[in-house]
Amino acid sequence: MSIVVIGSLNMDMVVRAERAPEAGETLFGQGFALSPGGKGANQAVAAARLGADVTMIGRVGKDAFGSGLLEIMEQERVHTEYISLSESQATGVASIVVDGSGENRIIVVPGANVEMKPEDIEALETVISGAGIVVMQLETDLAMCGAAAVLAYRHGIPVILNPAPAQPLSDELLHHITYLTPNETEAGILAGIAVESVEDAERAARIMLSKGVRHVIVTLGSKGALIVDAAGSRHVQGFPVQAVDTVAAGDSFNGALAWQLTCGRTLEEAVRFANAVGALAVGKTGAIASLPRLEEVEQFLR
Ligand code: ADP
Repeated sequence: MSIVVIGSLNMDMVVRAERAPEAGETLFGQGFALSPGGKGANQAVAAARLGADVTMIGRVGKDAFGSGLLEIMEQERVHTEYISLSESQATGVASIVVDGSGENRIIVVPGANVEMKPEDIEALETVISGAGIVVMQLETDLAMCGAAAVLAYRHGIPVILNPAPAQPLSDELLHHITYLTPNETEAGILAGIAVESVEDAERAARIMLSKGVRHVIVTLGSKGALIVDAAGSRHVQGFPVQAVDTVAAGDSFNGALAWQLTCGRTLEEAVRFANAVGALAVGKTGAIASLPRLEEVEQFLR
């Protein structure tokens, strides 16, 4: 069964310099790199690298970054026919300055990512109704996400919503979500309580369940993840690894979770596998560059 990811595609422009410039100042930097990203693109590639059949719905600009992202998605064997081209907006970018102490200063310009509106997703009803599972995040238009969730719900298609970056969500949207996958910070913001322990995470998850989400999976970094649903709460332990770079840990987890669920695994099995994929992703630097392939995960779990 196929996975439909509805989400963002960004190009990250990373400049390294001794320090960030003051207003009106020009500095020489020490390095520059372009790296593809956006939570939607990362999650789509995470699932595709494991062997999933993935279709991405999103939007990029008619510019070099847009065509570069499309090419990368195609290389990763993600179906791109529903990634549309904006007539007026540029491809989403993140402008990142990393200073000598490793501190980041980031400006994200979502551009084409937020141009897709409810009517655009409603025109793709047959794509959604043919999916095994739909995966979304919150770097696109919130009303569009809401419309996609309603469509999937109407067709009985499960929806994973990774509520990142955190923002308040309506009960109406939460009611249409099958699997909600916040990290601890996001769980705290969504539930309106401080989340500092596994017990707090469970309390936050129960608040979200009371709003109509069927299963809440709170990711807990090195501690793995907590599943909370009508069957109770289960802590699925993480795998001990040397963390090098936690970028895309959550994205790799969500892509893996989606793939395992379409393979018919139980939620506990799927979360254990997703923990392994997340652990492998934090063991390498980069976003898309850190996403493991199936053979690597199988070897790790042996
Ligand atoms: P996010 O990246 O969204 O903040 P988390 O930090 O909770 O999310 O990480 C997502 C998943 O990645 C975790 O549930 C876990 O499976 C895995 N993971 C993250 N950090 C580590 C780590 N230091 N060691 C092992 N696994 C990790």
